[in-house]
Amino acid sequence: MKPSKSNESASSSLQEDISDTTEEGNKELCPGFREVDDFVKYGLGAVLSATKASSVLPQAGDEYDFYRSFPGFQEFCESQGDKLLHCMSQIMQHHGCRSYIRDRNKLTGVEERFDLIVDSNDFILERAGILLDEADGVNRNQKPVIPAGFQPAKIVVSSWNRKGSGSGSRSETFRMLNAKNVARPQLKFKERVDNSNTPFVPKIFIKPNSLKPLPSYFSNKQMRKERPEDLDVPAALADFIHQQRTQEHVEDMFAHPYQYELDHFTIPESLLSKPEPQMYKPMSETKLTFIDSLEDLVALNEKLCSLSEFAVDLEHHSYRSFLGLTCLMQISTRDEDFIIDTLELRGEMYILNESFTDPSIVKVFHGADSDIEWLQRDFGLYVVNLFDTHQASRALNLARHSLDHLLKHFCSVDSDKRYQLADWRIRPLSNDMVQYARTDTHYLLYIYDCVRAQLLDFNHEQPGLLQCVWNKSKDISLKKYVKPIYTEESYLELQRKQKKSLNTQQLTAFRLLYAWRDKLARQEDESIGYVLPTHMMIKISEELPKEPQGIIACCNPVPPLVRQQVNELHLLVQQAREMPLLKTEIAAQKKKGLTLIKKPEVTLFGPHDTSRVSEGELPHSTPGEGAVKQGILFSEDVHIMDVDEQKTSGLLAPPKITLFQEPETPHDQKSASVSQMKAKRIIDSFENPFRMYLPSSDVHVNKNAKFDPSSKIFEISKRWKLQSIEQQENELEAKRKSKEEAKRRAKKVAEERAKAKQSYQESLKNVATVRQQAAEFAKDGGKKRERADSEVGEKTPKPSKKLMKSEKSQKTEVPKEDFKPFDYNQSDLKVFDGAKPKSNTQFDPNQQTHDFKKKKMSQGQKNNSAGNRSMSYLTGKSERGFRHNWPKR
Ligand code: AMP
Ligand code: MN
Ligand code: ZN
Repeated sequence: MKPSKSNESASSSLQEDISDTTEEGNKELCPGFREVDDFVKYGLGAVLSATKASSVLPQAGDEYDFYRSFPGFQEFCESQGDKLLHCMSQIMQHHGCRSYIRDRNKLTGVEERFDLIVDSNDFILERAGILLDEADGVNRNQKPVIPAGFQPAKIVVSSWNRKGSGSGSRSETFRMLNAKNVARPQLKFKERVDNSNTPFVPKIFIKPNSLKPLPSYFSNKQMRKERPEDLDVPAALADFIHQQRTQEHVEDMFAHPYQYELDHFTIPESLLSKPEPQMYKPMSETKLTFIDSLEDLVALNEKLCSLSEFAVDLEHHSYRSFLGLTCLMQISTRDEDFIIDTLELRGEMYILNESFTDPSIVKVFHGADSDIEWLQRDFGLYVVNLFDTHQASRALNLARHSLDHLLKHFCSVDSDKRYQLADWRIRPLSNDMVQYARTDTHYLLYIYDCVRAQLLDFNHEQPGLLQCVWNKSKDISLKKYVKPIYTEESYLELQRKQKKSLNTQQLTAFRLLYAWRDKLARQEDESIGYVLPTHMMIKISEELPKEPQGIIACCNPVPPLVRQQVNELHLLVQQAREMPLLKTEIAAQKKKGLTLIKKPEVTLFGPHDTSRVSEGELPHSTPGEGAVKQGILFSEDVHIMDVDEQKTSGLLAPPKITLFQEPETPHDQKSASVSQMKAKRIIDSFENPFRMYLPSSDVHVNKNAKFDPSSKIFEISKRWKLQSIEQQENELEAKRKSKEEAKRRAKKVAEERAKAKQSYQESLKNVATVRQQAAEFAKDGGKKRERADSEVGEKTPKPSKKLMKSEKSQKTEVPKEDFKPFDYNQSDLKVFDGAKPKSNTQFDPNQQTHDFKKKKMSQGQKNNSAGNRSMSYLTGKSERGFRHNWPKR
């Protein structure tokens, strides 16, 4: 990337401006660039133009394969590819990454190279992140977040934990602390995690502060612990069986246990009046209690019950668990901070329902949507009287609604969200983690005061806006946790989001992998992202690796369970490969656009457009098949059913263009539609315009592309044909001239022969008397005639010259006028008629063939008009099957 002249001058003029104001004005950042911005601007420009240029390269698939069949293109690709690899390798070397990307001996597959690039990208991005952090004043060399006893964690920023895609913004990148040695908390849980594919049933069995008693189903839960159906079945299933047996109401089972209480909850007047914000205590002067025993928890609950408000937050872990784990609960009162080890007290947390559902105590959360669900899922905890500061921030129309922003705005506290994605399962917690967790609730009650006051100020002391926030908060507390349920269609939803069109084999692989992943994740209690990240699943589905090693190559880093079960995965991929290969609807629709451009005269109709077909004509087909039919575009109008097709039409609608017509045997050609046959013929007749530049005339054209009428090859062919018409014209002209020359000679001979005959007869008539004639004839007449006949071919008798001249000029002009170079675009048989002289008979291809043969046989001999006619089309090209293949109309 050498800066261009203009860039240099542009940046140097910029530098001049700056040099007046900065001390180190003369120092260049790198040659040609003084400022980082200049370099970035230039770099981005270069990247942009490279991206643009790469997008006009032949697309992978038919188009690329087609171009690739020309050695010139191939060489170009090789040399450019080498240059690019060299460039990449240099960049990688610069960053100290493995860089033998160009070495073909060391690296065989594209996959390996791709892996290398992914690795390097991760490495480079991570480096950039560190440097940006440093520039930002964040010292990344601080003590790691991992407590003593743990290995210093390597920060992994990979595709799976990178938020968003490609925005490149640092704030979008989250760091996941890679703490490999964390014991699985699930092992300690008294109640097994229920990952079964059954709907979530609330965990509650005691309902404090109830206005409506808990359904007997829940209240009897403890008593039912020993019921026989609990053995070896997931809890929810056991519940379901029990419910079936006892005829309990299903709606009770799945209802929000505090629905009634929340519906009947109204905000006390006191909470709608303007508060005087009560300043938070400095953190250093605030007592922090870490709670990991039941006694402490009970004590905390007692304390909370005596208060009028407290702040709550949760920390969560979702990577090494199927449903996710609530790891920590932070609670702040006006005087104290508490951190509850919810992994330790998971089974006891429910006792907090006493304070959490007490309508006289305000629970302040920030962005409680997830928290409400996690509380239900893990502890059976509910919240009555929630105030969400996130909702308040929204109502106030603050610039941003994150907690960081509120902290900054109201408390001038700079929070460090670095630990947001820390592995919160880690025990004991490091001081930094504790500090972080604590900050999330410590200031929240003060913020609660501030936003309430502002909401009233905002609305001229009218409680409307504040009431609105209370209502929104109540809606959040009414949220019900919904367990992820696997259905046969789940994969489609995910596939749609990926915006990738997959063919039937790929989609089958995706479906099978999806099911495998879901099953394994539930079974092993791991997140689906841990089992197999979606982008890897897509990659495997797209590539359908033939070998287990290919599956490994699709993954970087390789998920442990993928490595472990690579053979099972391989079987799934094989199973998918056995599917008949059909393109998906999306692919077919894309192709439709292509064909449209090529054949504008083709009338299209959508899957539901029956305007051109009467109801009765329509075969009974599903909408899906309709969409498939849409794909048969190439020549609807001339579509002639072959016998097989006629037999089956109406019985079933066989997919047409959706099939990857891959005729490996001539047999397959038979089943091709008329349009496909036509396409094939066009390609067969297609002369490579670059033939003259190629060493060999044996040009390979991708077979699949050839037989796929919807393939892009037509577009390319057409383009090339247009470009090559001139070339063809020249060629034809040259051929025509040489033929003309030959013909002229032949004609000359014929004419001279005729002339000779004539003059001979004339000489007989004029020169000799009848008797003389008789005498002459008697003497050597037969000999003479014989000689005259034979002489004609070798020697041009002088007397005929004049006559011949006039005749010649008349005759040779005929082909010139009528000559029409073959126009491939026209693709019409009239091209043959065009060369015909005056005698206009109906075109008969067989006749034509006959004439053609006759002409060949009689070359250099006696000629007729048919011979003239043949001049315009007698070329090697037309000889090569063009006539024979053209379909009858
Ligand atoms: P917070 O309420 O900000 O303390 O976040 C609570 C939990 O939500 C964290 O422990 C994370 O597990 C999760 N979380 C928060 N922000 C994100 C994020 N940007 N991406 C993924 N998970 C997040
Ligand atoms: Mn939170
Ligand atoms: Zn938090």
